[in-house]
Amino acid sequence: MSLRTGAPVATRLRDPGLPPAGPRVGRVHPVVSLADRIAEAFTPLGFEVVDLPLLATAADNFDVLGYPADHPTRTRLTFSPADGVVLTTHSSAGVPALLRRAAPGPLRALLVGSCFRNETGSAYSNSQFTQAEGVVVQPGLGLPDLAGLFDRLVTGLFGAGHRWWLKRSDYPFTAPGFALDIECPVCEDGCPECRQRGRVEIGAGGVLRDEVLTACGYPPGRTTALSFGCSLERLLRLDYGLTDIRELLINDTRVLEQFD
Ligand SMILES: [Zn+2]
Repeated sequence: MSLRTGAPVATRLRDPGLPPAGPRVGRVHPVVSLADRIAEAFTPLGFEVVDLPLLATAADNFDVLGYPADHPTRTRLTFSPADGVVLTTHSSAGVPALLRRAAPGPLRALLVGSCFRNETGSAYSNSQFTQAEGVVVQPGLGLPDLAGLFDRLVTGLFGAGHRWWLKRSDYPFTAPGFALDIECPVCEDGCPECRQRGRVEIGAGGVLRDEVLTACGYPPGRTTALSFGCSLERLLRLDYGLTDIRELLINDTRVLEQFD
């Protein structure tokens, strides 16, 4: 078929902006792929991978974890679709349900899923993001075990021998709590990504307060719980040199194909 010129329609009307013809092979989204890498590091240790629910009760998201009523995450950054219900603001929101299910016994689980905060997006953060959080409950655990879990996380993500540090940092549900710094994977002598420090913070964790355990059915003082977690989009930024994490939510296969 042709128009008045006689030239084939397909030739005359070609749009160079269209994707090439032919079958297009799908691939795992880079965020999911990274979650799989973290899971592969911990499932050999007996961790069960659990989907983080998109919705949580305000009680599990805040009250059980010890967040005060005037905490900024609670008062300013939370989407609340119904009274007493919130869009999960952090992966720790899934921990109370796991504890109630396991109490008074041991637990090893890795929560993975989307979290939401009512804030303006930037190249470094977004209103929707993905977190992974491991939680372990068993008697006799201590800080060396927590260090071992952090080492497993860093090794699984950046390879054996990648240097990391813990620094004290307070969270409502941990005592003590720590932030996890790693050697900047982008530079050797300082760069904008690490603000010239040579280190970047990629995660957090700590020993869960006994109040969290008792609120979920554990006898007081009888066992110990550790948790550790990280945000995946931040890690992808470091791992792939991504300049704007919002691109991970753009429906453009040309962006996603760069992660092969
Ligand atoms: Zn750097």
